[in-house]
Amino acid sequence: MKLLIMGAQGSGKGTQCEELTKIYNIPAISTGDLFRGIIATGSELGKKVKTIIDAGALVPDETTVEVLKDRLSKSDCQNGFILDGFPRTMEQAKLLEGITQIDKVIYLNIETKTAIERIGGRRTCPNCSHIHNINYPGDPEYCSVCGTKYVVRDDDTEESILKRLQTFKEKTLPIVDYYRSKGLVIEINANINKEYALNQITEGLNNYLKGLGEY
Ligand code: AMP
Repeated sequence: MKLLIMGAQGSGKGTQCEELTKIYNIPAISTGDLFRGIIATGSELGKKVKTIIDAGALVPDETTVEVLKDRLSKSDCQNGFILDGFPRTMEQAKLLEGITQIDKVIYLNIETKTAIERIGGRRTCPNCSHIHNINYPGDPEYCSVCGTKYVVRDDDTEESILKRLQTFKEKTLPIVDYYRSKGLVIEINANINKEYALNQITEGLNNYLKGLGEY
């Protein structure tokens, strides 16, 4: 099953991906994580990408597509994947059609106010990418999955967050409409909590699989 997960920053894409990976046994691929991995190598490309990401801007399509294609060619993607953070523009949606065909698009619909509150409390594990929110129960300092100390992402500043939310509205929402017109979108109310969102997602995906006779 080849899935896209879309939603504004703070809508819970990363958290849902962690669960969906376990349930459907397919890897979650986040272009943001791929870029953070490249930054961590300290390479020239990493330095360039870091400047762009810290400013809340988008990495050029050529680089993004190259990094993504390389990841999708790995053997763990043979049975499918969940793509998180790509496509972010209509141009990227068209480029994706040249790479692979998507089965379903999960759209986590969240109000801007709730998204901003969530990003403000977000902590990310630099080792395993697990995401925690300090406003919810759990250790606020150390990762509950691997024990590494959480970090606040460098681009989780108020200015960068507002810019990314604006970019999402302008550039990414039209893509959701595009996939909706193709009948691919499973729309989720992401304002309640993660359990509620996950239930809606699995219900939608299981219905899809039932339709295929695979579930
Ligand atoms: P994310 O972890 O999805 O919030 O991504 C963090 C940052 O990585 C974004 O703000 C962009 O600068 C960059 N990025 C991630 N995915 C893409 C993409 N599909 N196209 C361009 N830039 C991206």
